[in-house]
Formats: sequence, structure tokens, C-alpha cells
Amino acid sequence: MEARELLYEGKAKKLFATADPDRLLQFFKDDATAFNAKKRGTIVDKGILNNAISEVFFRLLENAGVPTHFVRRLDDRHMLVKRLEIVPVEMVVRNVIAGSLAKRLGLEEGRPLPEPIVEFFYKSDPLDDPMINEWHVRVLKMATQAEIDRMVELTLRTNAVLQPFLAERGIVLVDMKLEFGRFHGEIVLGDEICPDTCRFWDSSSGEKMDKDRFRRDLGKVEEAYQEIARRVGA
Ligand code: C5P
Repeated sequence: MEARELLYEGKAKKLFATADPDRLLQFFKDDATAFNAKKRGTIVDKGILNNAISEVFFRLLENAGVPTHFVRRLDDRHMLVKRLEIVPVEMVVRNVIAGSLAKRLGLEEGRPLPEPIVEFFYKSDPLDDPMINEWHVRVLKMATQAEIDRMVELTLRTNAVLQPFLAERGIVLVDMKLEFGRFHGEIVLGDEICPDTCRFWDSSSGEKMDKDRFRRDLGKVEEAYQEIARRVGA
């Protein structure tokens, strides 16, 4: 499938049109940004690793009944995906207290939650992705109540599929961010699922194996992404 015009360039990916109006090419870059692009850098081969890791997760989820935009991986940096109408909401699901939850509520990182917490953020770079709730999503018509219910259901199901899969490989799924869109009227999981969009901690050492190594200048960033790819069989 050959790439046509560039439709969108984000911080980590480019999206190209294809000859098929229902299909896009998702190109994975090595660029890394954090704190809404206030910190910029490159993680060598990140795009290749995130493409391969996302493929593993999308296949697993499709087999577990979660509809995704994944069609197939074309080469090391390109994934063929369904063309979605993106819902401008980032869904975060958390199993362990970390990141903005710890900061917002003054809690210590690392305490497991008795059940997952689902949060909504409005996708907006100029506004730094502010936290919102279901009321904002529905009343401001970002999605209908039925779509919200489906996104919550699929977010929890995605978490319930990935958490044990990762646990068997010595990885704690601390939290992750998911994005959804509409494809012929159906809510479908989009974007990517990788160490840029999840927190992964080594089960025995507690060591961080995700983008927090870049955000917090912990070093060994590439090694962490490679190790995640190796453990999930990417
Ligand atoms: O920063 P916060 O704790 O809210 O992040 C929760 C999860 O969502 C983390 O796994 C983080 O990597 C991911 N995230 C993301 N893109 C954002 C914000 C958070 O992938 N814009």
C-alpha cells in the first residue's frame, strides 16, 4: 500500500492517506517529546520498536474482542490502519498510583489501586490536555453517552487483557492512555500502545521500562524499549 498525501504529523507519528479511503498509513518516528513538547529528543529506533510492540498488543486485543484500527504491519516503521474519525478524548486507565494522579492528589507513587481508575482528558496541545469528566464529553458533544459507555467498557477490557499478559512477562502495567475513534459508526481503539503511552515497571525490581526514563532523565531509554519488545515477543 503506497503512501499518498501527508494528512497529519503528530509528535510521534505521521499519518498518510492511501488509495483506499478507509485506510491510512501510520508512520512511527523516533522523535520523543514530553511535558507537551517542552522537552524534546530522539530515542534511537523507538519508531521501529513501538510499531512492533503495538502490533503485538493490537493482535492480542482483536483476539479478545476489542475492535482496533490495526490492519497489518507493512514494514519496520509503517502500520496499515483503518481511517477513524478520532474522538478528541484521551482515556487513561490506572492500576497503580503514578504520574499525574500522584501529583494531583498528593499521593505517593507505587501504591496498587484496589480496582482500576478511568480518567478522561481533552486532547488539546494548546491547553496541555486538561482533565475532564463524562459530563464535559457528553454536554460539549465530543461523544454521545452510548459512545462514552463503549469507550469505558473497551478501556477496561483492554486493561484486563494486557495486565495479565504483561504480568506473565514480569511487567506491571501501571497505567496507559488509549484513544478511540469511529469507523463506520462503531467505536474502535486507535493510535498506538507502547512504552510511550503506558507505564511499565519491572515486576521484581520496580525499575521503570517506559517513557518516564526519558521524561525524568533516568538513562537507558533505548534499552528499556528494547527489553519491553523482547519480553512481549515483538
Ligand atoms: O501523566 P499521566 O500520569 O496522566 O499519564 C498516564 C498515562 O498516560 C501514562 O502511561 C502516560 O504515558 C500516558 N500519557 C500519554 N499521553 C499523554 C498523557 C499521558 O500517553 N498526553
